[in-house]
Amino acid sequence: MRKNILILCVMIPILVIMTDILMKRSQVSCLSENTCETAEFREQHLSGRLYEELSGSGNFADDLTVTMLHGKFSPDEIWTDSVLYRKYKPTEYFRLRKAYQAVWLDLKYFPIADNGHSGDKISFENTYGAPRTYGGRRIHEGCDLFGEKKQSGYYPVLSMTDGTVEKIGWLPLGGYRIGIRASYGGYFYYAHLSGYEKEFKEGDPVEAGEILGYMGNTGYGEEGTAAMFPVHLHLGIYIETPNHKELSVNPYWVLKAISKKIRNCSY
Ligand SMILES: [Zn+2]
Repeated sequence: MRKNILILCVMIPILVIMTDILMKRSQVSCLSENTCETAEFREQHLSGRLYEELSGSGNFADDLTVTMLHGKFSPDEIWTDSVLYRKYKPTEYFRLRKAYQAVWLDLKYFPIADNGHSGDKISFENTYGAPRTYGGRRIHEGCDLFGEKKQSGYYPVLSMTDGTVEKIGWLPLGGYRIGIRASYGGYFYYAHLSGYEKEFKEGDPVEAGEILGYMGNTGYGEEGTAAMFPVHLHLGIYIETPNHKELSVNPYWVLKAISKKIRNCSY
């Protein structure tokens, strides 16, 4: 009898501890080494309100990562406790945090300048993943921004981030495009430009808010092809992940979040 009580006294705390560990582990089960390659992650569904709150938190990268995990990648409240993720899945956690940093941490400006004329509104919709057919069947890996004025060369396109010119020149799909590599590793791709602000070269540094070129409708053919579609800016955001050199994420929520970070310039 006494022996049984002794066994119980030993077993109960062990069971309690094991149950606790299992429960904590199950709380972090949504995080895997490939989380930063999932469709949920790539959607980057963060509201402008939460972006504002996170920006004031002083710990943006951790808080964003935990908020997204806790909110199942479509959060409606901030979450800040990263302890369990760091304890049980540190590699996976830091990999995901790095991916969020690449998308969000360098953002400073909305990519189209404002000239103070109230009629010149910019509009964009969430068409990431929509089918496209030019150049073979593919999906739309970006977000298209349209101005009220339909004229090519009218709206200045700004760099959203500080960074370095990584690619410049003509692409059959993108027309005149420029790709900026930002400091946390995100690649910001601006396409269909009517032309460039100056003769950029690969490796040139650019500052956030600097004019890169002008909204146009170039592309879908050999160099100089234009007007195959309406004037717009195609914005793509790409990150490097363990299995992808260039993995696109959805710029729509990013653009919504920074839609008030407007730079004024006259045009
Ligand atoms: Zn597009």
